[in-house]
Amino acid sequence: MLVNKVMANILHHFWSLVFPRTCIVCSERVLVQGEDSVCTYCRAHLPQTDHHLFPASNIMYQQLVVHMPVKYAFAYLLFTKSGRTQQLLHHLKYRDMPELGEELGRWYGAVLAEHAFQQHFDAVVPIPLHKGKLLKRGYNQSYHFALGLGISLGLPVWPEVVERKSASETQTRKSRIKRWQNVEDIFEVVQQEKIGGSRLLLVDDVITTGATVLSCAFALKEAGCSEISFAALATA
Ligand SMILES: [Zn+2]
Repeated sequence: MLVNKVMANILHHFWSLVFPRTCIVCSERVLVQGEDSVCTYCRAHLPQTDHHLFPASNIMYQQLVVHMPVKYAFAYLLFTKSGRTQQLLHHLKYRDMPELGEELGRWYGAVLAEHAFQQHFDAVVPIPLHKGKLLKRGYNQSYHFALGLGISLGLPVWPEVVERKSASETQTRKSRIKRWQNVEDIFEVVQQEKIGGSRLLLVDDVITTGATVLSCAFALKEAGCSEISFAALATA
């Protein structure tokens, strides 16, 4: 066993020497030990929001709270000209890197835990993907982001409580109102007894208009959860 492990380590180091991995954000700097996919420079220069300092008054919160009672809302990153957020999302969604979602979730969860947000939630619920899309991509990126958040916040993650009935997506070419109608009744709570009275942190990879997360939140509210908060990896 030990010999196998030593051999695997040697092979791994040899492989890294021959084919050094570079940072997925800058595509330049070679990753060193302790860096999984993003180099330390890029990590330090991610366009982070200050939403955790204003959890019930930031812009994203204000957009969501006009539609329903919301406890808190925050996003980790902003889309910027530098394109760092876009790079991360591209790799998370289209380059078969679910572990990147978990890593980013752990980073953001650590920020939120520093401000003791874990005491306000009972569980983390990722927005589900439709089964067809899940089969195609192989994983739900929001679930992996939620997993990382759950680890850092010390909270359970409940992906099984709600399902996506329809494959329809919010469509950018449609008007805002039509989009809103489009996502109504997309989600179905399948474990009502579990969420009754609970304070949920609902998680999506990107929140822009909020139509998708609000639609899911309405379904969870109707099913009896007591409080809804929102967390996203990125917002515009
Ligand atoms: Zn980099």
